[in-house]
Amino acid sequence: MNSSLPMHRSPRCGARNRHGTPCRSPAVTGRARCRLHGGADGIGGQPGNQNAFRHGRYTAEAIAQRREVAALLRACRDQLGAMCDR
Ligand SMILES: [Zn+2]
Repeated sequence: MNSSLPMHRSPRCGARNRHGTPCRSPAVTGRARCRLHGGADGIGGQPGNQNAFRHGRYTAEAIAQRREVAALLRACRDQLGAMCDR
């Protein structure tokens, strides 16, 4: 959207609609989704809800750990690449 109005610069909902394209409605303040796609108040479980927990692969800690390892591997690869280029 080519507008400088604040309402047009607000974060957009990225949920997929029926056409497979992003929704692009304004996201609810402090959330990544619009009021129709899970951003509304009262949506979702209580903080710490364990009802859908199965193996922990997608917990915040597990995701953060994978990101850390990936960043370390990337740094090692860059370093090795720089050493081999000489
Ligand atoms: Zn949406």
